[in-house]
Amino acid sequence: MFTNWITAIKAHDDDVDTLTKLERSERMSKIRSKNTKPERLVRSALHKLGYRFRIHARNLPGAPDIVFPSRKQVIFIHGCFWHAHENCSVANLPKTRRPYWRKKFARNKERDATNVRALRKLGWRVFTIWECETSKPDKVAQRLSRRLGPPGKPSNA
Ligand SMILES: [Zn+2]
Repeated sequence: MFTNWITAIKAHDDDVDTLTKLERSERMSKIRSKNTKPERLVRSALHKLGYRFRIHARNLPGAPDIVFPSRKQVIFIHGCFWHAHENCSVANLPKTRRPYWRKKFARNKERDATNVRALRKLGWRVFTIWECETSKPDKVAQRLSRRLGPPGKPSNA
């Protein structure tokens, strides 16, 4: 059902109806935002490199998508549209009802920033990966690996 929705949105990108569909799907975006394709790509690339991690830690601010508890590092994988990725072609502001969307995206960004601040306060290092970067999951995983340190047991565990 969800897949159909997303396909419908993509297929009718220029439809007058699009925004209504987006707004309706927004209500479901909480569900849609977990286990997305970008998340799965990054997770499997990290697995390939030998990393082990937890996912969707609801006990942490913002329920980070990937969590490395002993390294004290978390990763968010953000959809470019909903999280309003700046200067990103995927994150274009819809052509109508712009004030609505501007407000909506500003709220999402503020929420993201609040979560990052809260996590840092708790001593976590936070990395954000954008959906548009995950078309090259191996590249992303290698970049993350430089920040995470070698896979396997971290030296301070
Ligand atoms: Zn993007």
